Formats: sequence, structure tokens, C-alpha cells
Amino acid sequence: MDLLSRLSPTPLQRLSNTDIDQAGVQLYIKRDDLVHPAVSGNKWRKLKYSLLDAQHSGKKAILTFGGAYSNHLYATAAAGAALGLKTIGIVRGLELEGNDNATLQFCRANEMALHYVTREEYRQRNSEEYLQRISEQFGHPYMIPEGGSTSLALKGVAEMVTEVSDQLSAKPDFFATATGTGGTAAGILSAACDVLAFSALKGGDFLRDDIQNLLRGANSPGKLALFTAYHFGGYAKWNNELLTFIQDFRAEFGIQLEQVYTGKMFYGLLDLIRKGYFKPGTTIVAVHTGGLQGLIRM
Ligand SMILES: *Cc1c(COP(=O)(O)O)cnc(C)c1O
Repeated sequence: MDLLSRLSPTPLQRLSNTDIDQAGVQLYIKRDDLVHPAVSGNKWRKLKYSLLDAQHSGKKAILTFGGAYSNHLYATAAAGAALGLKTIGIVRGLELEGNDNATLQFCRANEMALHYVTREEYRQRNSEEYLQRISEQFGHPYMIPEGGSTSLALKGVAEMVTEVSDQLSAKPDFFATATGTGGTAAGILSAACDVLAFSALKGGDFLRDDIQNLLRGANSPGKLALFTAYHFGGYAKWNNELLTFIQDFRAEFGIQLEQVYTGKMFYGLLDLIRKGYFKPGTTIVAVHTGGLQGLIRM
């Protein structure tokens, strides 16, 4: 139970440099990368209540979905190992079988059973019929969708918002977050805060609907601003400009980002700040959603 009962909030740090100060913006970083060494960042927030629910419902195994670079699979494998729950990962891409990358090797080392499927099969991951079949096949495990994004995930993410509001003694004008499935953005919105969401994938406009769907039933959610241009070629794609930005960011602020999510988000956010997108006096909390195990050597 220790894994899930964090008592102290993750740090909130002020970031300032000439660009930020000139824009008159107060920028903070919420260090959720420090929430746990393996179950890091938003994955810990999003999994917390699903894992408790799995335990309460007496399930012995968890099944979930992810791609080769999935921080969610990584976090689920580590959490399952820590909590004594079996884990099963449905992995996108048959070609990965026998060809694991570091993320999938970590999952395996934490005894996650990896089940590789074709991209066509993976596309059915949210269909009722498919989920029923998979559930039968694996002995009715506790099922968590891709990215862990469920209504229970929203509740976990909303706790991060409460921590920040306590730390600042007020709500910030905006939260900024990197976005993959939209669960984190939806969680912050569900806590009635406005969100700047930076898509980590190409063609991220669909996220608007996905986030709306996750928010169904939420009371007066915050406003969403979705930025889809800072994807650097697509999911898990990057170039030298992004890698240089990540190195410069670390040199300037002493904080490590990675190239799949948080590097793209901060690149976009600082670009908006420089371009005068925000009124002077605006307070922004950018969430460091973790994912550092996926950092490539630069
Ligand atoms: C998964 C992940 C995201 C995306 O979160 P969603 O809730 O799926 O939008 C952002 N940052 C990091 C580091 C992640 O691992």
C-alpha cells in the first residue's frame, strides 16, 4: 500500500529567465517527475485510484494497453510488482516480439506478461466486443485502457491540482501539460482549471473530442486550449532542435526533460511566452509529467 499512500506533495518550483520576466509571466513547474522513481509523473496520478479499485474488487491481475514507448506500461508493470498484482500488457506491433526496447525490457523484468498484437488488432482496443474477448482470454483481469485514462484517472490528476492550489494559495490562470491520450488534461479541467494542452503526436485535433468524452459528467470544467503544432514530426519523433532545447533547459534550470512529451511541451510553452501569447501577470503551472526513463542519450 505504501506505493499509493503519498503524504507529501511534489515540489512546485518557480522558473524565471529574461524571456519569462519580459513577458511578465509567473511560471512554475510542478515536479511530478519526483513522485516515484518508476511509477512517475502523471502515470502515478492516473493509476492510483484504478489500482486501489483493482485491489478492492479482489482482482489478482491487471491488463492494459500500450505502444513500444509506453510510460503507462512501464508504470503499470512497476506498480503491479510493488503491489503484488499480476500485470498483462497488450503491446502494439507484432514486430516488437523478440525485439524489445528498454521500456518493454523493464516491463518484462517486472514480470509483466507481454502480448504482442498487430496494429489492426490494437486499433480495436476500445471496442466493447474486443475487450470482452480479451477479458475471457486472460481470465477476467482488471482492465485499464491505454494511457490509464479513465474517470478514476481524472480523480487522481485532480489531486495534483489541489496540491498546487495549496502550494500557491490560489489557482493558477493555466496549467500546461504534454498530451498523449488527454487523460491528464481532462483531469485538470475536471478540477475547474484552464489547461494549455500540447499534443505530443501529429494530427492531435482528435484530442479535443477525446478530452470532452473523458469529461462527461464533470461539473463546470475549465477551458481547454489545445496546441497541435509542437509535435516535432509525431509521437516519439524528435530532431536536433528539440534535443538542443532539452540540453539548454537543463543547463538553465537544472531540470531534466525528455524528448517524447515534456521537452515538446516546454518548447511550445516558452515559444508562446516569447510570442506574447499571455497577458502580463499571468500565472502558469507547467506539469513535469515525468517519463524520464524514456530519455535517450544525447
Ligand atoms: C503519458 C504521458 C503524457 C501524456 O498523458 P495523457 O494523460 O495520456 O495525455 C505526458 N507526459 C508524460 C511524461 C507521459 O508519460
